[in-house]
Amino acid sequence: MRQIAIYGKGGIGKSTTTQNTVAGLASLGKKVMIVGCDPKADSTRLILHAKAQSTVMDLVRELGTVEDLDFVFYDVLGDVVCGGFAMPIREGKAEEIYIVCSGEMMAMYAANNIAKGILKYASSGKVRLGGLICNSRKTDKEYELIQALAAKLGTQMIHFVPRDNQVQRAELRRMTVIEYSPDHKQADEYRELARKISENKMLVVPSPLEMDELEDLLMEFGIMEAEDESIVGVAEKAA
Ligand code: ADP
Ligand code: MG
Repeated sequence: MRQIAIYGKGGIGKSTTTQNTVAGLASLGKKVMIVGCDPKADSTRLILHAKAQSTVMDLVRELGTVEDLDFVFYDVLGDVVCGGFAMPIREGKAEEIYIVCSGEMMAMYAANNIAKGILKYASSGKVRLGGLICNSRKTDKEYELIQALAAKLGTQMIHFVPRDNQVQRAELRRMTVIEYSPDHKQADEYRELARKISENKMLVVPSPLEMDELEDLLMEFGIMEAEDESIVGVAEKAA
């Protein structure tokens, strides 16, 4: 059984991507459990078509044990980088991490911080980074930028998920895209991501960037100007 945690900045698309990927894994015949770690309790809304759900503890009480799974996915509350951040990692639960990010600077900044957290726990445990999932916000040179960030972290961009309003259409019906519209091209994207995760063998201890390296990367791609850098520099000193 593989235990996977999905991290990323709040609102980046963790719950959406997790549930659509899990739907893709299910269509490959895999048995998957989702563990939501967010008080919004929306980690299974699209899968179960409802917000209320039985908790893992309910299931264990009913079944005695949770049996025969190929994957467990932890949909983690992403904003809490310091406090709650490491729960599934620290408890030795999740051994394989995917970070959802985009070409927006704060999403990349969060991804780098998460990589720092993984590095911290990697020495004492088995936790490894499996890749970045770029959930597109259609920023400039996003594909190349996230590929470059992944390379610097010593990992891969495992998939580039396009931004598509089909996600919203499905979401309004409390469904994954795969269930709502299996023939839509966005459903193919999630099935492709599921297949790549299923076959992924690239599990690394990441090498996080220093703040100025992250800024250099944004400048290299022409996303941040040299003048901006001095502003960020001042803000950093003030903090
Ligand atoms: P998180 O769990 O990281 O806080 P969510 O999964 O709730 O984020 O995503 C926030 C919103 O972003 C969702 O309500 C969904 O409508 C939208 N979204 C996520 N991924 C995509 C995508 N690839 N295309 C379009 N909209 C998306
Ligand atoms: Mg969420």
